[in-house]
Amino acid sequence: MKLFYDFHIHSCLSPCGDNEMTPFNLVNAAKLFGYDIIALTDHNSCRNCRAAVRAGEQAGITVVPGMELCTSEEIHVICLFPDCGRAEAFSALVRENIPPVKNRTEIFGDQLVMDSEDTVLGTEELLLNTASFFSVDEVPALVKDYGGVCFPAHIDRASYSLISSLGDFPADLAVNAFELTPNADAESYLAKYPAARGKLILRDSDAHYLENLLLPAHTLNLPACSAQAVIDYIRNRHTRSETEDGQCINGSF
Ligand SMILES: [Zn+2]
Ligand SMILES: [Zn+2]
Repeated sequence: MKLFYDFHIHSCLSPCGDNEMTPFNLVNAAKLFGYDIIALTDHNSCRNCRAAVRAGEQAGITVVPGMELCTSEEIHVICLFPDCGRAEAFSALVRENIPPVKNRTEIFGDQLVMDSEDTVLGTEELLLNTASFFSVDEVPALVKDYGGVCFPAHIDRASYSLISSLGDFPADLAVNAFELTPNADAESYLAKYPAARGKLILRDSDAHYLENLLLPAHTLNLPACSAQAVIDYIRNRHTRSETEDGQCINGSF
C-alpha cells in the first residue's frame, strides 16, 4: 500500500520545538493533513514517543517511535524503532552519552515531557541539542541492537549534516537510506556522491512548529502501515534501483 509519510518531526521536548508542538497536536495535525504514518524524532530523546504513539492510536494514524541523534561529529541521524520500549531503552542509553549540561529554559525552551492528552508530565533537565559521544560510524549497529534502523538527516543542509561535517558520503557507512530536504535536487546529489546511489531517498518536513508541517507529497509502498514495516523496508533496501516514491528514475543506480 502507498503510504504518505513524514519521518522527521519534533515535539515540545526538543529545545527548538514549539511548546504548541505537543504529541497530541502534532499527531492530530498530521492526521488532518492526510498522512498515514509519521515518526516523532526529538533531538537525542524518545521521551515523548509513547505519548505520540498513543495519540496516534486514538487519532487513527501510525506513529513510529524515533529520535534525531546528534553524533560526535555533529551529524544528525534519524533513528526509527519498532516499539516504544526499545525506543525508550535507546533513549536512556543516549542520555548517558551526552554531555551532562543542564538545559537553560530561558535560552533553549522548556523541553516538555507530555502524555497523549496534553498534560505536562515533567521536563527533561539535560540539554538535548548537544552532540552525543557516539560517532556516525557506530550508530547503525547500535540502533540495530535496539531493533531499529537509521539514516542521515537532511544531508543537503549546510550544518549538522553528513556532507557538511565529513565533506562526502562515506562509502562504508552502513545505511540504506538518506534524507533530503523537501526541495533539494536528488539527481545532483547522486551525481556528486556516488556512495549515495541506490539508497532510498526520504523527504521529511523536520517540523518544529505546527505551521512547518507540509502537505503530504511523498509515499512509500509498504506491505503494512507499521513501524516494523518501515524498518524492514529500509533494512532490505540494499541497492535496489528505485528511488523516492518507489519510482525508478535511472536503472543504472
Ligand atoms: Zn537536524
Ligand atoms: Zn530535526
